[in-house]
Amino acid sequence: MAGPSGYSKVTQGDLGWLRSRLGPEDVSTEEYDLVTNSLDAFPGEPHLPEVVVWPESGEEVADVLRYANERRIPVYVRGAGTGLAGACVPVYGGILMNMMKMDRLLEVRPVDFQAVVEPGIVYDHLNRLLEPHGLFFPPDPGSSRSCTIGGMVANNASGLRAVKYGVTRDYVLSLRVALPDGRLLRLGANVFKSSVGYDLVRLLVGSEGTLGVVTEVTLRLRRLPRARYTFAAYFDSIEAGVSAINAVRQEGLEPAAMEFLDRVHMDLISRWSGIVLPTHECMLIVEFHGYSRAGVMEEAEAAVSVIREMGASRLEVPRTDEEVQRIWEARKALYPSVTRATPSPITGDVIVPLSKLLDVVRKSYELGEKYGVRTGVAGHLGDGNVHTNWLPEGRDTDSWRRAMQANRELVEYAISVGGAASAEHGIGIEKKDFMALQHGEALELMRRIKSLFDPNWILNPGIML
Ligand SMILES: Cc1cc2nc3c(=O)[nH]c(=O)nc-3n(C[C@H](O)[C@H](O)[C@H](O)COP(=O)(O)OP(=O)(O)OC[C@H]3O[C@@H](n4cnc5c(N)ncnc54)[C@H](O)[C@@H]3O)c2cc1C
Repeated sequence: MAGPSGYSKVTQGDLGWLRSRLGPEDVSTEEYDLVTNSLDAFPGEPHLPEVVVWPESGEEVADVLRYANERRIPVYVRGAGTGLAGACVPVYGGILMNMMKMDRLLEVRPVDFQAVVEPGIVYDHLNRLLEPHGLFFPPDPGSSRSCTIGGMVANNASGLRAVKYGVTRDYVLSLRVALPDGRLLRLGANVFKSSVGYDLVRLLVGSEGTLGVVTEVTLRLRRLPRARYTFAAYFDSIEAGVSAINAVRQEGLEPAAMEFLDRVHMDLISRWSGIVLPTHECMLIVEFHGYSRAGVMEEAEAAVSVIREMGASRLEVPRTDEEVQRIWEARKALYPSVTRATPSPITGDVIVPLSKLLDVVRKSYELGEKYGVRTGVAGHLGDGNVHTNWLPEGRDTDSWRRAMQANRELVEYAISVGGAASAEHGIGIEKKDFMALQHGEALELMRRIKSLFDPNWILNPGIML
């Protein structure tokens, strides 16, 4: 069966070819570059690439792939390296293709609600450029300040606003993709719907760089909401906080965001971010978007009364934009605060049907206790996506192993109740073992699809499959 094997090492001749094709400034074997491209945000083992390259056009990407394919050299693709599953870690060495120099906004088509971008553009930067057009690309990952659109496409990333607006896959109309044999293909059509054969765009989105390298993306955009209303609700029991989420959804209300933080996380944020949160067992941050202030207020007031009925002990309604900003700053301080508390947190990412939400949250704490690891739960619970953070003690490897085991058991549990091993962070090297459990016999079909696009398995080998 085809798979990752039989690769060549990068030779002086290969470096010469890369330098002549890309220019010497876009090719490096410096230790600094190899080390900083050897890991993403998943705290696994680093793997050094043999060379790092920074292509500046789709044609350069395609030529490097064609060359590497002929020479059987592995190629790994990297955006900003914020992934939490090790999906750009060059486990077989080879060429690391860093996409950060392809970072332009190529075109905005306001009437069509579209933007054409290069893959290395950073999410928040793109939205800042779109703001004067009254448009935005909604998913809003927690890493929005640094992650790239290419990485989001490859991971089918989502985030804080997915509960209302959906995930990256819902916004990719067409792609320009370089294949391992050096062909540059355009996939999809720049229309809101089409019915013309297999949907290769949807196949590529979420493929973690294993099928082709994305060199251009046409995104569908949304109009910026004219009105917003944000509030925070605090609860003195986890059960009340989680049940309130389901109660809001059951009421038929559609928040743009409904984020959950438990006391462990609230305490860490208060300690490390400078934003002090009140002491309660958990909190929800809820935001509504709409066309008019009156419409948004109507929905928000209905949500507030549901949340009160579910036992919220305190509500905080920010009065100014700065106060709203402060609440979201607190949420975005989550991961930096966690990494201040422990150098190698294991950040879980499972999703379950909403009816199992409370069960999976309880299971997280149960596993934390079983394995003696400090455990915090947070996440985009409004759509069933739970991020359990396992916080091993300092640099203690035994505690780290126990945290990994707790995370594994939570993933197994999520799959057993009809959920998924990952909602948005992807599989990478971290969760490869769960692909069979999640997909059964369909996994073999995926391996064949991989071989069809990449017969020599040179692209991101060892990742996902
Ligand atoms: C603090 C923090 C918060 C986070 N919050 C969220 C969140 O809310 N939601 C979420 O979804 N994720 C989140 N993440 C995970 C991560 O940021 C996202 O998955 C993001 O989309 C990764 O983008 P990146 O540019 O860093 O990609 P990388 O980590 O560099 O790469 C990710 C994958 O994309 C592939 N890739 C990159 N560019 C291309 C390309 N041009 N063509 C083909 N493949 C490519 C890589 O090979 C790899 O498989 C978070 C991470 C951190 C550290």
